[in-house]
Amino acid sequence: PRSAYDIGVNRQWHDLRNPGLVPVVADEAEAERYQLDAWRDLPREQVPPWPDYAEVEDVAGVLAGVPPIVAPYEVEHLRSLLAEVCEGRAFLMQGGDCAETFIDNTEHHVLANMRTLLQMAVVLTYGASLPVVKVGRVAGQYSKPRSAAKDSLGLPVYRGDMFNSLEATEEARVCDPQRMIRAYANSAATMNMLRAYLRGGLADLMAVHDWNKDFVRTSPAGERYEAIGREIDRAVRFMAACGVEDENLHTAEVFASHEMLAIEYDRALTRIFNGKAYALSGHMLWNGERTRQLGGAHIDFLSRVANPVGCKIGPTATPEGVVEMCQKLNPDNISGKLVVITRMGHKNVRTVLPPIIEKVQAAGCKVVWQCDPMHGNTYESASGYKTRAFDQVVDEVLGFFEVHRRTGTHPGGIHIELTGEDVTECVGGAQEIRDDQLSDRYETACDPRLNTQQSLELAFLVAEMLRH
Ligand code: PEP
Ligand code: MN
Repeated sequence: PRSAYDIGVNRQWHDLRNPGLVPVVADEAEAERYQLDAWRDLPREQVPPWPDYAEVEDVAGVLAGVPPIVAPYEVEHLRSLLAEVCEGRAFLMQGGDCAETFIDNTEHHVLANMRTLLQMAVVLTYGASLPVVKVGRVAGQYSKPRSAAKDSLGLPVYRGDMFNSLEATEEARVCDPQRMIRAYANSAATMNMLRAYLRGGLADLMAVHDWNKDFVRTSPAGERYEAIGREIDRAVRFMAACGVEDENLHTAEVFASHEMLAIEYDRALTRIFNGKAYALSGHMLWNGERTRQLGGAHIDFLSRVANPVGCKIGPTATPEGVVEMCQKLNPDNISGKLVVITRMGHKNVRTVLPPIIEKVQAAGCKVVWQCDPMHGNTYESASGYKTRAFDQVVDEVLGFFEVHRRTGTHPGGIHIELTGEDVTECVGGAQEIRDDQLSDRYETACDPRLNTQQSLELAFLVAEMLRH
């Protein structure tokens, strides 16, 4: 080398070639080997109406060269934690906005959501006496599947900030591929902030526990949660008195997840590392209820990445179909690779879920069972808002636990749409939010979320269920 600069350059080259350190952008030959583009020839639901697909390809070209949002070792770590859930030794808490938006991607909003998730996780950790794996619907949750192409105003439907804008005009609803770049930038910034804050006190057990104490003090149903709140308080003080000191008491690891709907986006952020393809747009990706066709594009792409993947299943899923889906998404039957997210509706969960679990068990498929008590319980309120009733959400979780107790399987986790803000989007809970109050603070860009109080109430109720 002629200069220090050259040494630097050489080092960089060395690192780039070292497969133990840095992922490489999947080039065409590699894409062939991992079949990362097989989905392009398959039927695909929920295709956004792009005005010009060439521009989508240009954007994907840009995203193929950017630094990824998460690292392969983190993805592997999450998979190993989910393997613990799969074996019944841990619990999975996943939650966040239905749809993240660019405008709400603020420090305030992201931290409020994260705080709520952490508060719930502490309560659940105590209730389950198990480690709780924490996964946010965050840093990439910008695409939404929709049931109709037009909204109630007759406009092209809002599909998530990754594609178009919520603003109610024809022009704003045209899909714009450049939005994928903005989604990437927002996701990267959010992940960056979360990593820093989670290590900088946000997840400190004492602080999180203090927020929970405030909740118990101020909730109209505080009395009901007081017993468990007091027990946690004793446990925390006991640990402190014993001088228990561990990094885990001050920091937490929270992983990022989103729905894998904008396949071009997730494909462009896929990198090859140590002989595996990783979608590095997030740690965990899930497939939605509307895109679970077995021969379809979404399932195919997810079957080819090493990330843990989720698949939502609704009440029309059949036991045979779910087994086939498990085999397709997790062909090597790796523990912690597949999360089956059941969203049956509170009326169906007790009848529809048991035969599915039995068949999947009989086939020997390794899955994490997770309950999404939100999406099967959505209805339109008399005042015209899309809402969910807190009691029905609780009832679906209750049914999920009942069923798993009967089948002898591990009720592995819950998947919640929540926010750390005081919104009025779901009815009921201790605050007794009524139909005619929904308009007070109805702020979601898509589905109704539990507010802070409702989220914590749910955590306390689930903690009770876990103890019995
Ligand atoms: C979602 O999780 O926001 C969603 C659309 O869920 P599902 O696919 O289960 O309807
Ligand atoms: Mn939703």
